[in-house]
Amino acid sequence: MKKIKAKFILTPDKIIENGEILFKRKIIKIGKNLPNTNKTYKFDLVMPALINTHTHLEFSKNKTLLEYGDFITWLNSVIHHRENLFIECKGDCFKKAIDEMKRSGVCAFGEISSTGNDLKYLRHSPLKVVYFNEIVGSNPGAVDVLYTDFLSRLQSSLELKSDKFHPAISIHSPYSVHPILMQKVLNIAREKNLPIQAHFMESKAEREWLDRGEGDFKKFFEKIFPHAKPLISPKEFLYQFRGLKTTFIHCVWANDEELDIIKNLNASIAHCPISNRLLNVGKLNLKKVMDKKIPFSVATDGLSSNYSLNIFKELRAALFMHYEIDPNALAKELIISVTKTAANSLNLNNGEIAPNKDADLIAIKLPHTKSNIHLHTILHTNEVEKMFINGEEI
Ligand SMILES: [Zn+2]
Repeated sequence: MKKIKAKFILTPDKIIENGEILFKRKIIKIGKNLPNTNKTYKFDLVMPALINTHTHLEFSKNKTLLEYGDFITWLNSVIHHRENLFIECKGDCFKKAIDEMKRSGVCAFGEISSTGNDLKYLRHSPLKVVYFNEIVGSNPGAVDVLYTDFLSRLQSSLELKSDKFHPAISIHSPYSVHPILMQKVLNIAREKNLPIQAHFMESKAEREWLDRGEGDFKKFFEKIFPHAKPLISPKEFLYQFRGLKTTFIHCVWANDEELDIIKNLNASIAHCPISNRLLNVGKLNLKKVMDKKIPFSVATDGLSSNYSLNIFKELRAALFMHYEIDPNALAKELIISVTKTAANSLNLNNGEIAPNKDADLIAIKLPHTKSNIHLHTILHTNEVEKMFINGEEI
């Protein structure tokens, strides 16, 4: 058994001053004047280790290759460079990406895998991985081939299931997955009780295409399929996720009705502010998401639309982007978003300092801090002092 003494413990909903935590693999007790153990740590601030709900590590080789500033221009550059970026990202590339997250206090991440080629690198990750096997493809003629490939990737990941590796499923988006394919895949998620992620309403182009079959996506699709039409309405798409544990990514262009459906589905939203800014898709109405009490997590997305996988940089981007929300209130919500809410979104037993939760903890140096604890944590942290995963120092 180990003990931590800290000037501040963020649970994350509450702040406990001069508190103590007893833990082994799991957290045993939180309080004051707890029994002594053979190992005691002292820190300024301790909180649950952070969770990056949405990444695409396959793209970690990108730095300056992809084109930012417009969603469709970016998408075309992704399609053009995708294969090469995937081939170039091997062991070292994945290790570097995971290291950057780890140093910023991330103990677990949601990884979107489109090929399954990343599995051999991620199965030995020191961090917990929720591995989302992604399905993408709208051509009815290719449904069977895509489904067979998906099943084989899913099977490989199911075989690796452990307390650190959790298989899951991703539907790429309402504009890129054929409804038949989507239904088949969601049935598996239902059967096997797997969490789901889906990109939803990321860009104005997606809004115009799904609502009216117009806009930039019309030109994009007509190059491949003449007379292309949207495959599904946004509402029908959302209703497919009934009874599933779903996280919708981005939702920048989701309207009130869609946000209410997301709320009623008990789903959450993953918010990637830096990605949204770089692809120039606009700003998620986070105030509205918070007012509607829709759970949200902040995530980095992949290096395909970010310059870093450091989660504290992402939190600061969110803090400065949503200037209409009081900074202290927002900072607290942001910390909850990357701990408790993120754990719930990925179906993990961490993200909170409470008895029986996994002892996934981080310690942060914040000397002299007396007030604005959440805010200062976000402002002054790039790397954490220490991280524990399942009670072990990492
Ligand atoms: Zn994404």
